[in-house]
Amino acid sequence: MFFPLKNSSQSGQGSIEAWFPRGLVCDGQDVLSAPVTSEGLSPLRIHWKKGRVSNIEILESSKTISLKLLLPRLIEPHAHIDKGFTWEKFPNLSGTYEGALKLNYQEHKLRTPEIVRSRAEKALRIGLKNGLRSVRTHIDSFGLRGSQSWDVLNDLKIQWQNFIELQCVALVPLEYWSTGEGYLLATKVASQEGFLGGVLVPPFDKQSSYRNLFNLIETANKIGCGIDLHIDESSQYPAAGITQLMKVLEHINCQVPITCSHSSSMALLPPRKLKYFADQMARHNISVVALPLTNGWLLGRQERKTPVIRPLAPVRQLQQSGVSVAIGGDNVQDPWFPLGNLDPIALMSDSIPLTQLAPWERLGLSAYTSSAAALMGLEWDGTIKTNAPAEFVVLNARTWSEALSSPPSRQHIINGNWFDENLNAFKLNS
Ligand SMILES: [Zn+2]
Repeated sequence: MFFPLKNSSQSGQGSIEAWFPRGLVCDGQDVLSAPVTSEGLSPLRIHWKKGRVSNIEILESSKTISLKLLLPRLIEPHAHIDKGFTWEKFPNLSGTYEGALKLNYQEHKLRTPEIVRSRAEKALRIGLKNGLRSVRTHIDSFGLRGSQSWDVLNDLKIQWQNFIELQCVALVPLEYWSTGEGYLLATKVASQEGFLGGVLVPPFDKQSSYRNLFNLIETANKIGCGIDLHIDESSQYPAAGITQLMKVLEHINCQVPITCSHSSSMALLPPRKLKYFADQMARHNISVVALPLTNGWLLGRQERKTPVIRPLAPVRQLQQSGVSVAIGGDNVQDPWFPLGNLDPIALMSDSIPLTQLAPWERLGLSAYTSSAAALMGLEWDGTIKTNAPAEFVVLNARTWSEALSSPPSRQHIINGNWFDENLNAFKLNS
């Protein structure tokens, strides 16, 4: 079992002088006159007591020379930690979606609760060290092995709750939610505050997909359980899944939050149609998780050709229509994606050229912070003001460019207490 060392003398009290993104400071009055760099950073002195921010001050410019970049602890809104680190045994060398699915199936047959626990613990440990405070993971939950994995992850959710808030999404074939067993699973998921998941990727039968989506939403309404779908992770049939979902939502009033993960092929729609769907999604309060890394690797493949069409959720167009969009890392070193390390800073860095969104823009940063928190329904949106949680990651870098050019070492402030990169409590600053 791994947990950071906790020193009994930890007081949850301290202060730090650092560069902090101006867009994430809510107490406008306190920092109204703070200088802002071209990358949107302000030099601040932040104090906290009993794990909560107590005061925010502007730092004099003479004290900014050696300041580091401070961020709120970060969020992974879409992961699969039940299958992480399986690439070595199940390498999908062709990099195709079909290849990944086939190997996922083979690997799934060999899962045991012990194997799943060890992978998931490794992922949580790495994520914590990299600066994550919250992770939403999809869990292959179909059948006996699926049910065992679900129980393991929900057990870890309780064990890790002081360090990482884990959200679990039960990933099963969409039609399963229309069955008696599916309903039983849904009630179990609801009782553990999880989410109902599924995959809607074309080609599919429109009528049965409509019916399955309708039944899923009806069940979700009845048991009060949010939904997170893998939808339109495809280079073909633009927005085929979203089209069915919108049709269903014209006939049933959904009372729970819906997240559309991927929504990649939507980007291939003509601009007016894209805007129409984005507006509809905003109207139905649907959130989107864009997953640039797995989309960039799996989609748009053509044999012996470099892809020129790169389907990825149209983040900016969705934001312009008022849809909340988060950016996630998705798979980590498994058949679906050979890379990744649950590192939110590396994710930002790798996503910049794919999304052309940068953290020095308000909407670029929100996709990793406040929008991700809103989509996950987290208590804290990641902005700082008096009484906000003292939960920070301190990067060994002075600017965004420096932080994103190579993964920097980092320190953590969790519940107001300092931890070093290895999560050993190392400093009291009271
Ligand atoms: Zn996924």
